[in-house]
Amino acid sequence: MDLNDEGQLRNVFWIDARSRAAYAYFVDVIYIDNSYLSNKYEIPLVAFVGTNHHGQSMLLGCGLLAGQTKASYVWVFKAWLTCSLGRFPQTIITERCKVLETAINEVFPRSLHRFALSHIMRKVPEKLGGLHNYDVIRKALFKTIYEGLKPFDFEAAWRVMIQRFGVGDHEWLCSLYNDRAKWAPVYLKDTFFAGMATARSNETLTAFFDKYVHKQTPLKEFLDKYELALQKKFKEEALADMESRSSNPELKTRCSFELQLSKVYTREIFKRFQLEVEEMYSCFSTTQLHVDGQVVIFLVKERVLEEGNRREIRDYEVLYNRTAAEVRCICSCFNFYGYLCRHALCVLNFNGVEEIPSKYILSRWKKDYKRLCAPDVESNSTESTEQVQWYSQLYRSALQVVEEGVISLDHYKVALNAFEESLSRVHHIEEKPNKNLL
Ligand SMILES: [Zn+2]
Repeated sequence: MDLNDEGQLRNVFWIDARSRAAYAYFVDVIYIDNSYLSNKYEIPLVAFVGTNHHGQSMLLGCGLLAGQTKASYVWVFKAWLTCSLGRFPQTIITERCKVLETAINEVFPRSLHRFALSHIMRKVPEKLGGLHNYDVIRKALFKTIYEGLKPFDFEAAWRVMIQRFGVGDHEWLCSLYNDRAKWAPVYLKDTFFAGMATARSNETLTAFFDKYVHKQTPLKEFLDKYELALQKKFKEEALADMESRSSNPELKTRCSFELQLSKVYTREIFKRFQLEVEEMYSCFSTTQLHVDGQVVIFLVKERVLEEGNRREIRDYEVLYNRTAAEVRCICSCFNFYGYLCRHALCVLNFNGVEEIPSKYILSRWKKDYKRLCAPDVESNSTESTEQVQWYSQLYRSALQVVEEGVISLDHYKVALNAFEESLSRVHHIEEKPNKNLL
């Protein structure tokens, strides 16, 4: 809690134990959602949202802020960083907002900060709606943003759009263009998004509390709903865990990549990857374009279905280095979504490769990820306090009991009893009533 000189409450940050444990696993990409604050809801809320091994959104902490100021943001980010054991996310996604941007630069200098494209596109009607020829401009803008594969395509299409519609001095479009390196998909190909990229026109980042909060929800009601929302998410994750472990998914092709990853990925991620395997059939030609030592550039042609059922042929360049087991496609599916695309799979297939190289199978999507990766909470810690170390030690000990407690019914009963007993002993010495609030 952050109090002013008179002892009045300014900002609050909290993270419950489950969210904190989750953060220890999924430290790579976070979405800082300040939409409740910037859209003037009754609750001045900022939510830290990540994505788990099933691609489900998960809460990684919450803040209530005195106002939309740099000082408030800096305070809440620092509080989050301390609770998260000083781990810097690789990528931070936010809406396009100057105050937020300065605060992020100050607190997370090592993270890549990117703007959520879906937020920008949502503003199009408001910002461009008044323009003569709005519908045509909107279409041209969408084409420029979503269809180009290289910065050159984007720049050329943007120039044509500006000239054709005479919008060179439109303030919003100008500022958007100046920031393009932070939101235009062609410039984000080296940023890892773990599926939170919204690089395709049908993708959006949904707010974690959307169904639980409306503009007039009072704080007290929100706190009840907060618990409900969290419970629901944890249940969904437990269900997905069970589903992923209990049976093998049905295969749709005879492709070896499909069989290989059906045994590894969680159910949902496998479903997404399976679509890429199926869509290898829409790629009808793989040819060698250029050879430079070990590196070969291939051209993969794909038949894609455009708006209005229009069929179009698209060319994708794929770099392949057999010695380094490296395959990189211009569509950058791997960085955006965390698995290989149909084009890269075609190139591997073309070269007689039967197994996807291990570096393209991310641990964060594996069904037994939590078991494989007991979080190393001390590493990278810049602000390791005594409490953080206690937390870390307790967490490891508890996790070991959980893992071994599922071996048999007898193991389970002993583990559960031990937990209940230790909880009551801890409660016995507990003095602070609100143990989850920090
Ligand atoms: Zn591709």
